Amino acid sequence: MTTGQTVRLPSVDRILADAACQALVAEYGRVQTLACARAALAELRAAMLAGTGTAGEEGASIAAIVAQMDERLQAQSRSHLRAVFNLTGTVLHTNLGRALLPDAAVQAVVEALQWPMNLEFDLDTGKRGDRDDLVEELLRELTGAEAATIVNNNAAAVLLMLNTLAQGREVIVSRGELVEIGGAFRIPDVMTRAGAVLREVGSTNRTHLADYANGVNEHTALLMKVHCSNYAITGFTKSVELDALVPLAAQHAIPTAVDLGSGTLVDLAQFGLPHETTVRETIAAGADLVTFSGDKLLGGPQCGVIVGRADLIAKIKRNPLKRALRVGKLTLAALEPVLQLYRAPDLLAERLTTLRLLTRPAAAMRGQAEDLLALLQAALGTAYVVTAEAMRSQIGSGALPVDQLPSFGLVIRSAPGSRLSNPLGVLEQRLRALPRPVIGRIGQDALWLDLRCLEGAHEAAFIAQLGELSA
Ligand SMILES: *Cc1c(COP(=O)(O)O)cnc(C)c1O
Repeated sequence: MTTGQTVRLPSVDRILADAACQALVAEYGRVQTLACARAALAELRAAMLAGTGTAGEEGASIAAIVAQMDERLQAQSRSHLRAVFNLTGTVLHTNLGRALLPDAAVQAVVEALQWPMNLEFDLDTGKRGDRDDLVEELLRELTGAEAATIVNNNAAAVLLMLNTLAQGREVIVSRGELVEIGGAFRIPDVMTRAGAVLREVGSTNRTHLADYANGVNEHTALLMKVHCSNYAITGFTKSVELDALVPLAAQHAIPTAVDLGSGTLVDLAQFGLPHETTVRETIAAGADLVTFSGDKLLGGPQCGVIVGRADLIAKIKRNPLKRALRVGKLTLAALEPVLQLYRAPDLLAERLTTLRLLTRPAAAMRGQAEDLLALLQAALGTAYVVTAEAMRSQIGSGALPVDQLPSFGLVIRSAPGSRLSNPLGVLEQRLRALPRPVIGRIGQDALWLDLRCLEGAHEAAFIAQLGELSA
């Protein structure tokens, strides 16, 4: 035995026989608990040999070792995917998982998780069915399109559409619409991966119908328009509207496709939001195919929707890539009830979570901010000063990038004379370390907590953990 090592470590067997440790075995299983006990003992042994084991008899007691194991096992079994509070002011925040789903969709997903479903099984005939059929009728009704198909996300929708219609051929796109969405989705790159050749026309700020007309040749497979999701070209600009492009395409018997990005199914103006071209309007203007996301303005699960001409959709569905990009039952379970909500547009702002959040009046957030102010100030102590202030939320996910929604929230600044270095960074980190992390945004020497998305039961949950902030 090493000189100086006065503390004897208990054996693994004695630790495992301990009643508190047996409770861990019951919860985490014997294999995991045993491995944890061995790791804890190895660490203690190493610390003792290094002479840093200061805990002595007490730290090496069975009770202390089991308590430490409990902490470890808890930490390692905590999910890495955590629920957070999105107080960034961006309602459809891609990094925070975009749309929150309405109750009807939640119930449907829970059922789909626990039961076999008629995913590809026709209950009338008892024969094999097609999973797209579950929502196609609804999508036709809501968009006016002849047919529809669903894939994993809109990026997949664009890829599949281009690969099906334009592999080895040219696709004409305006230089003003060569979007990069972020997360490596760039129209030119997707085009290449789809095996299509991008034929850029026009200039960054101005593209005319003649540019498209001059771009057409015997290799042209598609005329494509892309929604400028996350940027706006302003000043001396010109772009060609779809309805002007359609006759040109018809003249050459070339289909038109529109990547709408967010893609809304209703006119948002009726809810006091800025108008965004709807899928129905795009189909009515003559687009042969339209692609859009399920989890942006639509307010559903992550997926990509392709609607349009029946013959083209049929071709897309025959592409073997469709099988690689298809959605699972959970997605379809969630999507259908969300689409159903659109049949009652008068109730939509109440029932569709995304729309409810987007249409919350600033006065509602103002009342909340005033109620929460004192609680947050008390939790933060004297190092910070909290005020309730007007601010602006964003829709996010590339929908209406330049439009902002009047909101209200809490603004936290470092108290005058505070000696903390980087006080806002420290605070941001403390908020992220809460059991349910709070995500705000830093700007203008303050931490901003926009309350638009702190609705209903979420507010109570926010208040309930404030005490941990002062700890
Ligand atoms: C968001 C967006 C995409 C990508 O959609 P995902 O559903 O995130 O894959 C593609 N094109 C446009 C124009 C977009 O706005």
